[in-house]
Amino acid sequence: MGYCKAMKVRFAPSPTGKLHVGNIRTALLNYLFCRANAGHFLLRIDDTDFVRSTAEFEIGIREDLTWLGLNWDSIEYQSKRNAIYDKAAADLKAKGLLYPCYETSEELDRKRRIQSSLGRPPIYDRASLALTDAERAEHEAAGNLPHWRFKLSGARIVWQDLVRGEQSVDTGSMSDPVLIRADGAYLYTLPSVVDDVDLSITHVVRGEDHVTNSGAQIEIFEAISGARPEFGHFPLLVGAQGEALSKRLGSMSIESLRDEDIAPMAILSLLAKLGTSDSVEAHSKIEDLVASFSFDKIGRAPARFNPDDVYRLDAQLLHKAEYAEVAPKLAAIDADLGEAFWNLIKGNLHKLSDAKIWAGVISGPIEPIIEDAEFAAAAAKLLPEGEFDENSWKAFTEAVKAETGKKGRELFMPLRKALTAQEHGPDMASMFVFIGRYKAVARLRGERI
Ligand code: GLU
Repeated sequence: MGYCKAMKVRFAPSPTGKLHVGNIRTALLNYLFCRANAGHFLLRIDDTDFVRSTAEFEIGIREDLTWLGLNWDSIEYQSKRNAIYDKAAADLKAKGLLYPCYETSEELDRKRRIQSSLGRPPIYDRASLALTDAERAEHEAAGNLPHWRFKLSGARIVWQDLVRGEQSVDTGSMSDPVLIRADGAYLYTLPSVVDDVDLSITHVVRGEDHVTNSGAQIEIFEAISGARPEFGHFPLLVGAQGEALSKRLGSMSIESLRDEDIAPMAILSLLAKLGTSDSVEAHSKIEDLVASFSFDKIGRAPARFNPDDVYRLDAQLLHKAEYAEVAPKLAAIDADLGEAFWNLIKGNLHKLSDAKIWAGVISGPIEPIIEDAEFAAAAAKLLPEGEFDENSWKAFTEAVKAETGKKGRELFMPLRKALTAQEHGPDMASMFVFIGRYKAVARLRGERI
């Protein structure tokens, strides 16, 4: 892809809650697109809502992105940019494109109800635009504070969407959007456009819930700068059955996945490929996701999100992980018994913390499971002498088989249960070496060790 201007994208979360998988997908698609095109990734904190935005959520956003490895090249806070919005608003007012409105919310409600009872779409009737200077002065004299609406052109706005192909929005079928509330606060629409212009954003990549909004924003872009960025709107995440992402899934916060020790690449591998023509598989490096990214691969159907897939990919990543990658984490949970141990157990793990189970089996103490004490006691007497090596298990089980006549499951299962207190697990020949003769004897005798 060739872009004449250096590419710059933004991820623009509002710090009014924790980031969840849906937000992260937006961040990730921006990130991948940007890195695939040697662009700049801006983190824009949309903290214009002073009441709902908190420093804690803002810190959480940065922590989550950092943990996931979605590094930003620069950061901006909307709360620090009011003067820039004031200037843009003044320019729009001077151009007659931002006009004061005095309707109360009750009046607007009433108008909407009348329109719908007449079967008409609930579009703002521009009554305030028609006010005379004298009527406006009257409102002001009465202390009525205006909110401000952007005057849409009523034209059909057309753009070539990076995901959806040609798109058009008829701004004649929309209400003029309110940009400034009566208390002077800016709503999302204007600051977003002003920042995209002022910070030289070349591509706005976001969910398709913004398509209509983009129609109005394109008019504001052109009013402010005479130009517009490119747009890409991707289908939203839905639940596994196609249902709207429920509260539970929506609240699948990145923080909770981090607390569960899920590998960031499990989350990113899934979110990058959901709803695309590529298969979903575990990638260990984000560079792989960058290299295979293309908007052309994103389908038009909603992307189905199933939390089980995160755990499945996390397990797949564990199964391929090298010892050096996981050693610090193993040490942190007291389950670092060296590289040979890791290579032995990794295929049996669902999550990293399961390593503790196997470290515990080796180090003890465990409560051996013995259903046939006579068989176990006979086996104890047949343990090979000296230090066990990789051939010891075979020699041992052959001896037990010869002595007791048991074979197959009847032979192996009681031994595994006595030696590990588990029904399944890593290869017994290797476990046997790790457990060692001393513990093996005791466990076959039913001792807790
Ligand atoms: N803060 C806005 C949101 O979270 C940003 C939308 C956009 O990307 O323009 O919806």
